[in-house]
Amino acid sequence: MNRKRVTHTATERRLARLPSGSDISVTVHRYEGSPGPTVYVQAAQHGIELNGTAALRRLHDHLTSTEIAGTVLVVPIANPRAFDHRSYVTPHALDAVNSNMNRVWPGDDDGTLQERSARRLWYLVEGADAVIDLHTGSADMLEHVRFQDDDSEALAEAFGSEYLLVDAAEENAPDRDFRGKLRTAAARAGIPAITPELSNSRRVDHSAVQRGATGIRNVLRKMNVLDGVPDTPVTRTVFRSDGDCIRAEDSGLFEPRPDIEVGDRVSPETTLGSIYSPATFEELQTVTARESGIVYSLTRESVVAAGEKLADVAEIV
Ligand SMILES: [Zn+2]
Repeated sequence: MNRKRVTHTATERRLARLPSGSDISVTVHRYEGSPGPTVYVQAAQHGIELNGTAALRRLHDHLTSTEIAGTVLVVPIANPRAFDHRSYVTPHALDAVNSNMNRVWPGDDDGTLQERSARRLWYLVEGADAVIDLHTGSADMLEHVRFQDDDSEALAEAFGSEYLLVDAAEENAPDRDFRGKLRTAAARAGIPAITPELSNSRRVDHSAVQRGATGIRNVLRKMNVLDGVPDTPVTRTVFRSDGDCIRAEDSGLFEPRPDIEVGDRVSPETTLGSIYSPATFEELQTVTARESGIVYSLTRESVVAAGEKLADVAEIV
């Protein structure tokens, strides 16, 4: 394929108007080479998920010194208000109805502030041939890449993570929350999309940033935007989540079993830890896995309230 030296532009894109009259806008980078596919990449829909944004700076350095076929559109901070507030979601003062940006895709021109913002980005997404939506989990989550359909699976494999998580079929999880994620909205529109969940929210973690930058380059190779073939791991585990996590049945202190870690395989009735009353020392719940699978998140934040998520175990496909 005939590739061309990249032409780079960075422009401001207005997403919505704030109550004060000032705008919410984002920076959109456009890297253009010879004719080819368009790939849309964004990070920081959730304001504390910084490693995607940091990975995009590495990608910028690479793309501006190479040749590509196609166009790469990059939005380093998709949700600047959440980022500025160092918060996971958009401040409730700006959108009490839809504070989580990753629940409103493809957005709405006449909707709430969050829906309008997503819509303005969706106009970029809908012209793309592939979407990468960079997220990070907590330190208690196994790094993985999420996808929904076969076309997206090829991109997820190319990204190069050792763990891939396939969403339950949409008909089995028809709730609005699930349907409003960028990757599911893109899949409905026929655009392959992946959600890499890199390690460690709230801080820039050098190794997660490197894996993010390498993963994006791998996907761009898979799309023939960049020269070369994806560099992917020898072993790969695909697991499926039905979105049904293990929750606290009572409030108290949670102690995970010291020898259990994310990535471990468990079977039904494997003990994951226990909740007890810190006042009386009474054990309130022996927390067990309900099915066989892989532990892909296990909370280390010990104070838990009834109903709170403790762990996710997903079936290995
Ligand atoms: Zn996120």
